[in-house]
Amino acid sequence: MRPDTPAENVDHTAEAARLERTAGLYPEDAEALLLQAAAHLELAGDRPAASTLYDRLLSSVSSLDNPHLVRALKASNLWEYGHEAEARAIIDGVRAAAPRDPAPWVIVAEALESHDELETAHETFTQGVRLLLTDVPEPPYATHPLLYGRHRVRRMLGAPHDDWDTLADTVHLSQAPPSSHVSLDELHDPKRVWSLGSNNPAELEAEISRLRAELGAYREALSRPFPVAVLHWPEAELTELLEAYPSLSAEYPSHEAHLATIESSLRELAASGTPNLGIVTGTVPSYEAFAASEAASPGEVSLLPQYATTLAARGRAVQWPPQRGSACWCGSGGTYGDCHGSE
Ligand SMILES: [Zn+2]
Ligand SMILES: [Zn+2]
Repeated sequence: MRPDTPAENVDHTAEAARLERTAGLYPEDAEALLLQAAAHLELAGDRPAASTLYDRLLSSVSSLDNPHLVRALKASNLWEYGHEAEARAIIDGVRAAAPRDPAPWVIVAEALESHDELETAHETFTQGVRLLLTDVPEPPYATHPLLYGRHRVRRMLGAPHDDWDTLADTVHLSQAPPSSHVSLDELHDPKRVWSLGSNNPAELEAEISRLRAELGAYREALSRPFPVAVLHWPEAELTELLEAYPSLSAEYPSHEAHLATIESSLRELAASGTPNLGIVTGTVPSYEAFAASEAASPGEVSLLPQYATTLAARGRAVQWPPQRGSACWCGSGGTYGDCHGSE
């Protein structure tokens, strides 16, 4: 397994080039890979090159999984290097299209916020929250930045708490590690935010890095080194695999044991401080194709971790752990909390 690289040591330009090459090899993964490449180019400061990638995605013949996300990222990037009018037009288009995915809402609302359009940012966060969270008992992870962003902008506007703010506070509290007791209200205290106007350089620097940690988290996530990923075989695939390659049976005594090993390996990695963990799902045909590309026999046990790493490099990893109330990674249909996430 590839050790994780701290974000500050990433050569963003080289990583973008690697992702573009991988996208060329695996066209079915190109959208996710090129979005990651563009995030690296943005972090490298090469905004025109990032724009070129967004345009390439938007003009591609195959239909995109998430065209609104690509448009939102394109708008945010354009605004950063002086193309304000074009950015605003794209943002209006994204809001009018009302996507069901939280990510484009977060990107466009944060773009408005970072250019001091607080009223419009507030409207945009609110529009997204109403659309995606009305009558949703447990807000999914991906919607948390919408709630937090709205909470943050409302404090800067001096607005009183409303029900969505209370929800943001509750969600934030339930997600915070027990050691940290900083409430969302403390984080978003306008006095702290306003100390950006302070004359004390240390205070200023602390505030800037704190705000950066919240804004742009999505782009940071996209540019994370690919996860340390554990390989998962669905039951039917595992049966087929072991019939074709009995030499792998020692590795997989039963499907149930295989699933239990995945969960325990990931918990061990997490406990040892390995960040950015994921699960990749194998299929026999894709594994055989991988073995052929490596000129190796699929029956070789040593090929399995290489296959997992390759799937992760192609952007196929699903983040682990899932939220307790969301579906378990094993595909049982139960929630993670009741299935492999129990005890
Ligand atoms: Zn609050
Ligand atoms: Zn499970």
